[in-house]
Amino acid sequence: MSFRPQTRTVHHPLVNVSGSTPLTTPLYQGHVFRFEDADDLADAFGTPEGAFVYARHGNPTVRTLETAVAGLEGGVAALATASGMGAISTVLGTLLRSGDHVIAQNTLYGGTHAALTDLAERWGVEVTFVSGQDPREVRAALRPRTRVLYLETITNPTTRVCDVSALTASVADRDDVTTVVDNTFATPLLCRPLEHGADIVLHSATKYLGGHADILGGVAVFRDAAIHRRVWEHSLEHGAVLDPFAAWLTLRGMQTLGLRLTRQCQSALVLAERLAAHPAVSTVHYPMLSTHPDHEVARRQLTGGGGLLAFDVEGGAPACRTLLAAVELASLNASLGDVRTFVLHPASTSHRQLTPEARAAAGIGEGTIRLSVGIEDIEDLWTDLEQALNKASEN
Ligand code: PLP
Repeated sequence: MSFRPQTRTVHHPLVNVSGSTPLTTPLYQGHVFRFEDADDLADAFGTPEGAFVYARHGNPTVRTLETAVAGLEGGVAALATASGMGAISTVLGTLLRSGDHVIAQNTLYGGTHAALTDLAERWGVEVTFVSGQDPREVRAALRPRTRVLYLETITNPTTRVCDVSALTASVADRDDVTTVVDNTFATPLLCRPLEHGADIVLHSATKYLGGHADILGGVAVFRDAAIHRRVWEHSLEHGAVLDPFAAWLTLRGMQTLGLRLTRQCQSALVLAERLAAHPAVSTVHYPMLSTHPDHEVARRQLTGGGGLLAFDVEGGAPACRTLLAAVELASLNASLGDVRTFVLHPASTSHRQLTPEARAAAGIGEGTIRLSVGIEDIEDLWTDLEQALNKASEN
């Protein structure tokens, strides 16, 4: 059939690339896929693995990212979501029903804490918070309706490291308990929680996986295909799926994850050691320092300390304000895991919703500064921090 120009503006032949393979993942920005055969379209509905139908069900660029992250984490499949919170709420929303019980670490990311509190208040899910440092505490918290054990490999901002193997072992005899581990800070290059007995691993891809402060995304990785299918079905209804362009940028960012992290781990350790020796700093929180309370677990479980550290400045909040005003290279903002170095005062920002007592219990003081180390020259980073610390201690 030959068509008139108006029809041809919307129906034009696709470029055929058969015989050539693009080196980089193509960006399939389209949200819908065309079928020639009605039976093929009918068959493609209702399965996460089949032909692509509609972008909320799956998209080739997004699927490439899911397959890549699942491979890195050692899972069977993954689901990419519109943000890290999208992954968290889609997974919790799938696993939990009214009246169920969750055991969660008490130092979780604030958004996760808020999501659990919301589930508790509005859906009658009960939550027991534990330190995450003692498997016996988890064992004692178990109830008949416990369905989820929720952990983070490295916590924000004090970098506590829980023993994922020991904690998952404490619920190993309960097939009805799913262990969910947020691995955002460690990334699959420093720790693979599925190898330590976890069932689902979560990421805010916004952070280290993307790495360049230009996307918002999340990924959930599954040990088991049946759970992946349930979560995928839930995501069809709730719709927090990842945009293909964000998936494409994440895939591009992930190509340098290893290089970035190697540099970030090296620089974070040097900065942690120098900060620990500075008279204006009372404590440094970094897992690869022998003074860190979880140093032994970190050495066993992580292949590097990560790019995030925190330190306590003498002089509390006023000294922190001076330091934050004085830094010239480090950028003051609420994110982390970037190629650039970021600083933050958790007590007045990310953890402001906690009471002072709860903050103190989480190890966060008025003088705590969080540092997400980038890939800049280490001497420039230290010069910047040192001059800011010196100003903070003069005031
Ligand atoms: N998990 C952790 C450990 C985080 O730090 C964050 C955000 O900072 C999230 C999840 C939520 O991710 P997003 O901001 O991509 O929704």
